[in-house]
Amino acid sequence: MPRPTTAVIDLSALRHNLSVARRQAPGARSWAVVKANAYGHGLLRAARAFAESDGLALVEPEGAVLLRQSGWKKPILLMEGCFDRADVSAVIEHGLQTVVHTPEQIGWLSAMRADKPVDVWLKLNTGMNRLGFRTEDAAGAIANLQRIPHVRMAGTMTHFANADDPANLRLSVAEQERRYGMAMAGVPGEHSLANSAADLLHPGVAADWIRPGIMLYGASPGTMPAAAFGLRPAMTLKSEVIALQRIAPGDAVGYGSTFVAERPMTIAVVACGYADGYPRHAPTGTPVLLHGIRTGLLGRVSMDMLTIDATGVPQAGVGSPVTLWGDGLPIDEVAACAGTIGYELMCAVAPRVHIQERNEEYEPGAHGG
Ligand SMILES: *Cc1c(COP(=O)(O)O)cnc(C)c1O
Repeated sequence: MPRPTTAVIDLSALRHNLSVARRQAPGARSWAVVKANAYGHGLLRAARAFAESDGLALVEPEGAVLLRQSGWKKPILLMEGCFDRADVSAVIEHGLQTVVHTPEQIGWLSAMRADKPVDVWLKLNTGMNRLGFRTEDAAGAIANLQRIPHVRMAGTMTHFANADDPANLRLSVAEQERRYGMAMAGVPGEHSLANSAADLLHPGVAADWIRPGIMLYGASPGTMPAAAFGLRPAMTLKSEVIALQRIAPGDAVGYGSTFVAERPMTIAVVACGYADGYPRHAPTGTPVLLHGIRTGLLGRVSMDMLTIDATGVPQAGVGSPVTLWGDGLPIDEVAACAGTIGYELMCAVAPRVHIQERNEEYEPGAHGG
């Protein structure tokens, strides 16, 4: 018997969420962001669901090669560019597009021979101070790139620090856009700026290519609920009850005995722990669905198990279904309780969690209605 801990990946939700991203940015093309194993959803699985995107973007060169080998023919973009010269060979061999954000990367490109053009995106640092050339160095970098015969300037891009939070005035989207626009005036190629948060909240910055990630997986890039944008959860993490305990006032639960009952209670033990990717820092009260009924975590999360309050759910027994997040329980809510974000929870789902695919083709009118 397999352990019941399962991540259900809904391919129709992935497709639907991509359509939401595209509808937000009419006229723009879409890089569907599939880094980190498609935010934990499975790289090749996500690629199948994102067949309608104009390209896939990720940061792992080996993942990009795998996508090509699996038959993905459309553009693939390496968003951190090459990590060494060998990656440049892979870019050439597999026809990948690559970001360039350091002089070193320009050096590796110019040291290689290529029999076909390499599409390069120049990344600009417009204030986030992570990757990219400073705006005043952009012209020099472009000149250096244009001296390399096999380089084709596909475009330029930048990344927003606060697109999810219009109240953050330390570095606004408008200010980053302004810096970008000054540096890019008259530069050839296309433009790519928008992540999910910009796609949802700043549709004016869509430019030529959007780069949605988290929204494709049905979670929120910020504090606004994903459902408010019509996004559907693509991952449901579920498991089952494997034991029940009836406890009396004064009895404690789990490591550290951090939860102590004040009244008689029924505790359900669920086969899911931090070694499955459930956050160990989720406190007592973090929401969980038991038989579809909302209840809460009790005590500490263990490696292979967690304990929940089943007192109000008389039908609970061994084998009862439990939803940790996903359908009926937004991952963002669980993440907020655990002091993190949906992104981290999705990416942390462990290899030992079974994957089940769901693919409900929604065809309006096809159900006799
Ligand atoms: C991860 C990433 C994205 C997608 O960000 P989301 O917040 O998940 O939409 C876009 N652009 C770059 C450069 C990224 O690294």
